[in-house]
Amino acid sequence: MSEFSAEARPTTGLFSSENRQIKLLRGLWSAALDLLYPPRCGVCNRIDTHLCPRCTAIIAEYGEPIERDLPENLTASYATALHEGGVRSVVLALKEDRHESLVAALGERLLFTFNQLKWPISCIVPVPLHSSRLHERGYNQSALLAGYLGKKLAYPVYTEAIIRVRDTQHQVGLSGDERRMNVQKAFQANPTLIADHAVLLIDDVFTTGATLQACAEAVLKAGAAQAFGLTVTAADV
Ligand SMILES: [Zn+2]
Repeated sequence: MSEFSAEARPTTGLFSSENRQIKLLRGLWSAALDLLYPPRCGVCNRIDTHLCPRCTAIIAEYGEPIERDLPENLTASYATALHEGGVRSVVLALKEDRHESLVAALGERLLFTFNQLKWPISCIVPVPLHSSRLHERGYNQSALLAGYLGKKLAYPVYTEAIIRVRDTQHQVGLSGDERRMNVQKAFQANPTLIADHAVLLIDDVFTTGATLQACAEAVLKAGAAQAFGLTVTAADV
């Protein structure tokens, strides 16, 4: 027994010292990057912070939730703010920088609005990102927000529940009808994950609602009982 311990100790010691070295190198690398490219506040551009305290306080000011009327597929759909000002800046910053302070600032807005609405949901599903964008960006900002909300509310988050079965063209510049045509049948949902669930769909921005509608259609088709939509911002249409 004591022999085993004596042999085991140096091996463990070796691994942990290697781990420490890797951690140290990672820390140095990250510090060097911060020195070369210092982070900037996503709203006011102040240096050395991803979101400065002043802008964090502005983002934490809440107005009335904004309802977007969607008669088809969705039981209800709300946004926490109009797509303008500081909130808009942080939404755009989160597309470039996945820093936890940005996720938390927007995630808290979703949490505040969700707690006002009191929807009887049973799981959370983010709107999937266009695969070419996921490749460019390396992460889905809506999945980060859904993850934050799920942790705070203790609901399961199914990031893989909806997949894009065909790549749609980018929505920018398309009219409402064109957007609806563009995303129709672009999504498929996994019945194993969401059958009988009341699904909360999370996206960063509501523009015409075409994407949210198409995702809601997919989850209902896969057997979900209801679909609700919640976004950080809504375009002023
Ligand atoms: Zn700032």
